[in-house]
Amino acid sequence: MSTALAPWLERQLLRLVEHNGHALLLQGPSGLGQYPLALSLAQAWLCQQPDSTQGMRGCGVCPSCHGVAVRTHPDLRVLMPENLMLALDWPLDESAQKDIDDKKRKPSREIRVDAARDLITFTQRTASGDRGKVVLIYPADRMNGVTANTLLKTLEEPSGDTRFILATDAQHQLLPTIRSRCVAHPMEGPTQEEGVSWLTAQGMTDALACVLLKAAGGRPEDARFMSERGWTDARWAAIPKALRAGVVEPLQDLAGGELIDVLQKVCHDQLAVQVGGAPRFFAAQSLVSGTSLQSLSNWAQALQRSARTADHPYQAGLMLEALVSQARQALSSPGT
Ligand SMILES: [Zn+2]
Repeated sequence: MSTALAPWLERQLLRLVEHNGHALLLQGPSGLGQYPLALSLAQAWLCQQPDSTQGMRGCGVCPSCHGVAVRTHPDLRVLMPENLMLALDWPLDESAQKDIDDKKRKPSREIRVDAARDLITFTQRTASGDRGKVVLIYPADRMNGVTANTLLKTLEEPSGDTRFILATDAQHQLLPTIRSRCVAHPMEGPTQEEGVSWLTAQGMTDALACVLLKAAGGRPEDARFMSERGWTDARWAAIPKALRAGVVEPLQDLAGGELIDVLQKVCHDQLAVQVGGAPRFFAAQSLVSGTSLQSLSNWAQALQRSARTADHPYQAGLMLEALVSQARQALSSPGT
């Protein structure tokens, strides 16, 4: 594991290492780094020689830190959907791996019931080191009912040496009984400078990093994802004016929730400017002028209704055209 944690995560890590409770819930919107923070915290809690000059974070070189880095630490149990475990290089258990290799089933997209059984065994056995055990659950909202209820029991009556780190970007989807047994840590975002320098360190130009960080509402991982999806600064900046002209190209390969999300950002910024505020997702000069508050408000409501059904785009092409036509009307000057 890389020891270079992003600076805004590092700040939070140094505070969370001191946390004494047995269950911590890292929560907040996507793209802020819940997973790397959770993993670094697990590493710090399990480290055999935490560095007191470095705020007790994991040293990165002891056998325990190495075990976390190579994903074989016996006192760390990770509960994730199988597709995410594979994407993040975590080993599946043998029978699950065999089923998937034999194409008996696909990797699960939720945390499986087997994980619950496994969790009980893990919490009951003695830690192999002297730093206790850690359970990392991510995204915690992907537990099904059985897994969540099993966890609940363990959270109610924790065995002395097991600590839980739950991380999510959809805390409203967790059982209230789970949330209430955890100490919540609201994720903090980077400053503008931190976000931009994190993105440029990954190969983006300064200009692209600035535009996409803003486009992603200040969430660096979301900005990186946008770049991977082919967004450029020019394409992002062109959207409001393209919509007013009824041109679909900049939105061409978007569908469902992603498309609605972009339209909602345009609508949000046009409304903000209309009432004298600052745009959040676009540069002011990218927006269109001479709009009407009433049409924009109506558009905002229409987009909210579309958002509820957006992930069933049975006619994606028609949906794009209908939404662009709706946007063009909302962005037209009154009387045109
Ligand atoms: Zn260590």
